[in-house]
Amino acid sequence: MTIETNLQIVRARIQEACASAGRNTDAVQLLAVSKTFPPEAVAQAAACGQRDFGENYIQEGVEKIATLESLGLVWHCIGPVQSNKTRLVAAHFDWVHSVDRLKIAQRLSEQRPATLAPLNVCIQVNIDGGAGKAGVAPTEALALAHDIVVLPHLRLRGLMTIPEPAADFATALLVHRQAKALFDRLCADGLALDTLSMGMSADLEAAVHASSTMVRVGSAIFGGRGGAV
Ligand SMILES: *Cc1c(COP(=O)(O)O)cnc(C)c1O
Repeated sequence: MTIETNLQIVRARIQEACASAGRNTDAVQLLAVSKTFPPEAVAQAAACGQRDFGENYIQEGVEKIATLESLGLVWHCIGPVQSNKTRLVAAHFDWVHSVDRLKIAQRLSEQRPATLAPLNVCIQVNIDGGAGKAGVAPTEALALAHDIVVLPHLRLRGLMTIPEPAADFATALLVHRQAKALFDRLCADGLALDTLSMGMSADLEAAVHASSTMVRVGSAIFGGRGGAV
């Protein structure tokens, strides 16, 4: 199927999930995850009105950003950020969803070029506690958020989660609701957050039911990645 058809299907899925959850369709933004796919695929999606794209691998993302600069797209870094990559990320991306250490946030803030708007960031939370997984523990998210929110060249937008694939809707809903509860706790503590980045190709409906504001969808738009993650 074409990218255009796939995008229509994904948008319809989001609309239906919003309708059945009693939410406005425009409450949920679609982030098209283009990792491993060439600039041409991104350009096709952009021609269908898609503006926001997510990349996991920084070098690959930076190359696509440069190639497609004239399209004026919004680029989100959703993969792990090592210290030696913060300068590239700060210079080229509009968002980073995967901040889980203060040191990385500080470097991103210091290295954000003064000519650009503050870098939008989400704190990645290891919501289901999987061993060895990226993300801050839920119990540490509040303290990290308060440390990040004062950094001058960042704008803390919210939380991001990547739970383990769930067997069914109900299981996915439970874990996404834990993320929503944590998000609400941070907001109640005075943090002005507007973004809950959760839900992927397989579980976007459950994420939308649990109040996700941004679903990150790759394979359902661009196709399988043939073994690559
Ligand atoms: C690859 C990836 C996605 C998209 O996954 P699909 O299952 O292809 O929709 C979303 N978020 C992150 C962080 C990813 O690495």
